[in-house]
Amino acid sequence: MTKSEIVQAGTPGLRQRAQDVPVDQIGSAKFQALIQRMIRVMREAPGVGLAAPQIDEPWRLFVLEDPPAYSARLTPTEIAERERVPFAVRVFVNPVVTPIGEAKVGFFEGCLSVHGYVGYVERFAEVEVRGLDEHGQPQTWRVRGWPARILQHEADHLDGTLYVDRMVTRSFAEAEIARDRFAGKPAAEVRGMLGLP
Ligand code: ZN
Repeated sequence: MTKSEIVQAGTPGLRQRAQDVPVDQIGSAKFQALIQRMIRVMREAPGVGLAAPQIDEPWRLFVLEDPPAYSARLTPTEIAERERVPFAVRVFVNPVVTPIGEAKVGFFEGCLSVHGYVGYVERFAEVEVRGLDEHGQPQTWRVRGWPARILQHEADHLDGTLYVDRMVTRSFAEAEIARDRFAGKPAAEVRGMLGLP
């Protein structure tokens, strides 16, 4: 395994508020190269999202992608409970994520910067994100389920927050152990195993 470009928890940049991207810089060759690098690193990991601070770049920028193949190992029930809908790569510059309603849903999630572990995190079921795209054009995306979870996770990175700050701490588990124990099980059963209501 080659050394990853992704920085791990403990790196100071993961705990700082990232800076707004100057809009007139979005079209620059340097910034466009950063976007392409982030997409490459996300795919190589592989992951469904990557925020710029995760490669030690202090900008309010993240990339997202959830190809159909990533859901291949999930049961139909797991896909339905997560509302996991594949989507093509998207780039958000200076994004603001706002919850729609108050409903929250809990599932395990991991982070490329907390390698090898997962935790159970409650997130808003539906959100709206506003920001700029890779061309500096305004974009809005209102979305539910797994994409909404990814958005909240990546937006947290831009404020120096990691999922471990939000997880039910006693759910924290090595990813392999969690997979062996919980994969394929309905959400209610998983909550029961964790002693959650
Ligand atoms: Zn993360």
